[in-house]
Formats: sequence, structure tokens, C-alpha cells
Amino acid sequence: MLDDMPVQTVDEGYVKLKTLASGISLTDVLMYEGKIPLPVPSSPVIIGHQCVGMITEVGEGVAALSRGDRVAIDPYVNCKNCTPCKENRNDECEKLFCYGIDDNGFMSDFVVVPASIAYKLPERVTDSDAVFTEHIALSINAVSKLNLENGEHIVIVGANALGIILAQVALYYQAIPILVDTDAAALAVAEELGVYYTVNSVEADPMKKIFSITGGRMADAAAFVATSHMSFGRSLDYVKVGGRVALTGWSKLSEDVTGSFSGILNKQLKVFGVNNGVRMFPSAINLLATRTINVSRLIGREVKFEEVDKAMSENAEGLDRFVKTVVKP
Ligand SMILES: [Zn+2]
Repeated sequence: MLDDMPVQTVDEGYVKLKTLASGISLTDVLMYEGKIPLPVPSSPVIIGHQCVGMITEVGEGVAALSRGDRVAIDPYVNCKNCTPCKENRNDECEKLFCYGIDDNGFMSDFVVVPASIAYKLPERVTDSDAVFTEHIALSINAVSKLNLENGEHIVIVGANALGIILAQVALYYQAIPILVDTDAAALAVAEELGVYYTVNSVEADPMKKIFSITGGRMADAAAFVATSHMSFGRSLDYVKVGGRVALTGWSKLSEDVTGSFSGILNKQLKVFGVNNGVRMFPSAINLLATRTINVSRLIGREVKFEEVDKAMSENAEGLDRFVKTVVKP
């Protein structure tokens, strides 16, 4: 539904941008379907937490950005007051706020945000590519928290856009990703992007394949993509005794992660969650600019604002599968 929103003022420390591109993410689709509670249930809500824009107005006290700059917006704002924030672990903030989930998001012509979450884009990063900055930032956060060492095997369960980006980030960290999914087309794209080991769990038993790829040791680590349709419990089977497992993606999914979790105890796994890429935006933009991460095959259709409703219901029916619909006003 399109709506006219009141004009927002640009306070000190804030910038106003004209939206150039945003993305329809799985979270948006789940909200559309009513599977995630809306932030402000009784009032109109603007979805979207991925945004690329051109700065049109700069509030007082903003020195690093000026009119005409093209920026990607990190949708997360940390509180700056809790213990993790004070200890410079912003991504573990106790009151992390996300635009498009906790409040109105970015799918409108203009948005006003704190300058601190707007990151300048180099010219060679296109608007559509930059929509994936958040996925890349989250992937960097997950992979660095998994402490992957050179040549370690990491099983990535779920080959949607986030899973395929996670695999590319793992390669960049010189680990060996093994991507598991049931979608042959998604796995084929990952292979084209340099992911050597993929397992189609419809055609092959992932346990056997991972056993053989790792020479019987099983994987050192696993990343489970929470927004995928795969089983979390089964992904615990793919790692070695004492292995590390990251549950990645958005956490407010109403459908619980499934499976038996006895592997956590039996194999003394280290399991943790990563739901944001706070602080990682500059690194993520750098990986896009140097073409270390290639997202061109993950861009699906480009739609206009008035087509978002239709695109949402088509996304809900699974039409776009692993590719992302990019919205351009
Ligand atoms: Zn905090």
C-alpha cells in the first residue's frame, strides 16, 4: 500500500536521503504474511531494512557526509549505553534497534537517519549491488566470530542469498565452504561463484558427502542460515566433536528452528547466534568494491514502489527463491 508520509525534519546528527534502491528481504515477506509481529501494530508501517540513497540534506554537526553522496544504510542502531556498547561490542548491544523491524523502514521516497549509520559508497559499487551490504556485513561478523582458520571446513546450511554470500566470505577468509541445500539452481549459482563443494540434500546424503570431503573428520564449523527452510538440528550432525556452530540471520522468526539439539551436548559444540553486521559495513562495502564478493547473480527482478505489493505476495509464494527483488522508486 502506498501512502503519503509527513515531511520529516533533519535534526542535528541526521541526514535525509532520496532512496535509490532497497531490497525485499525474507523478513519483509514474513511481516507481510503476518508471521512476524509488526513493530507498531495499529499504525501504518513502512517495511524495508536495506537501503541505498543519495544524500539531499545534512543536519548540523555532520562533517563526514555531504549533499550528493551516495550511501548504504546500516539498519541497526545500538544504544551506546549498555555494557556491551560501552565495551565496544556494539553488535552485542542489549537494545539493538532495527529500522524496518522495530520501527518504520526504508521503502519510501525519502528517509531520515542518523549520519552514523550512513556509509559512503565508491562509484564502482552499483545501487543494486549495495543493497546486499547488510548480508555481507552479517556474514563477515559470523565468519569472524567462528574464528575460521586457513583450510578449515565450514558447512553452510541454506543456500539463499545470505548463504551464498556467507560461502563467498568464508572463501575470502581462506576456509573451505561446503554449501548444503535442496535447491539445485541456487547451488549451481554458488558453484559458478567459486564454491567448489555443494551438496544437494535431495540427491545425496550430506553426512556421507561431508565425511568424504573432510577425510572423515567432519567440518570444523557450521553456519546455519535461519531464514532458510533447512533443519537446524541436522546441521549439528555435520560438525566434528568440539566444533563451532553459528546460527545466522534474523532471530524474530515465529517458526521455531527445528530438529534434535542433542548434538550440542553429545559433541560439546560451541553454538551461538549472529543476527547483525554492526561495525562491519565499511569492510562489506570494500569487499563489494574489490569484487571479492559477487552479488550480480543474486539480484532477481527490479520493481517499482507500486509493484511492491504484488512482488511481496509472489515472494511469499516462493517465486523468487534465492534471488532478491530490488525495489527502485
Ligand atoms: Zn547497547
